[in-house]
Amino acid sequence: MIREHLMGRGIRNQAVIKAMREVPREAFVDESLAEQAYEDHPLPIAGGQTISQPYIVAYMTEALELHSSDRVLEIGTGSGYAAAILGRIVSTVHTVERLAGLAQSARQRLELLGYTNIVVHEGDGTLGWPEHAPYDAIVVTAGAPELPKPLLGQLAIGGRLVIPVGASHDLQVLVRVRRIGESEYKRDELCGVRFVPLIGTAGW
Ligand code: SAM
Repeated sequence: MIREHLMGRGIRNQAVIKAMREVPREAFVDESLAEQAYEDHPLPIAGGQTISQPYIVAYMTEALELHSSDRVLEIGTGSGYAAAILGRIVSTVHTVERLAGLAQSARQRLELLGYTNIVVHEGDGTLGWPEHAPYDAIVVTAGAPELPKPLLGQLAIGGRLVIPVGASHDLQVLVRVRRIGESEYKRDELCGVRFVPLIGTAGW
């Protein structure tokens, strides 16, 4: 997976590669899918949701331009896999999931695997998680119709938001927004992606 799907497709950040080597993806999927855990495609998880394909997890993590002291917010915990990857790179991860069952099982899984710098919250992540803002980086792992304003407001100055945005429920452009001043943001479009919808007040 590392050599072929990640480095072979241009992932270069050593901290990202190291984290992808260390986190056992098979521990985040159903036992019956464990054999497919290192293939480069999404896999189904509970609640009709998916664990993203490894390349996209690595690509989005690299795009966040993380530092080891960063505090990161992830929206869309799902299985907890991407949170575990982030947790290997930065100091603290807050991750928000709207489905109670997924939040609960991700929390248990991360605890069992010994990841102590990740806090799983249950709620509507389109509103961010104001209690611990501002964040150095925010990553959204579900597709939004537009940039959720609460997330822009919870970025630290210099912070990066990486989020799939698109008018269709299952086809988006991956966007990186950098906060460069109190009310100044710079937006880059990175590539086309396909994510499940971000459902909530500032989402679908
Ligand atoms: N990052 C996850 C992983 O590593 O397994 C994969 C995330 S899955 C593609 C998208 C997740 O976003 C789903 O679990 C879905 O329930 C969640 N989601 C959708 N809308 C949300 C919202 N408003 N707040 C929080 N989570 C949301």
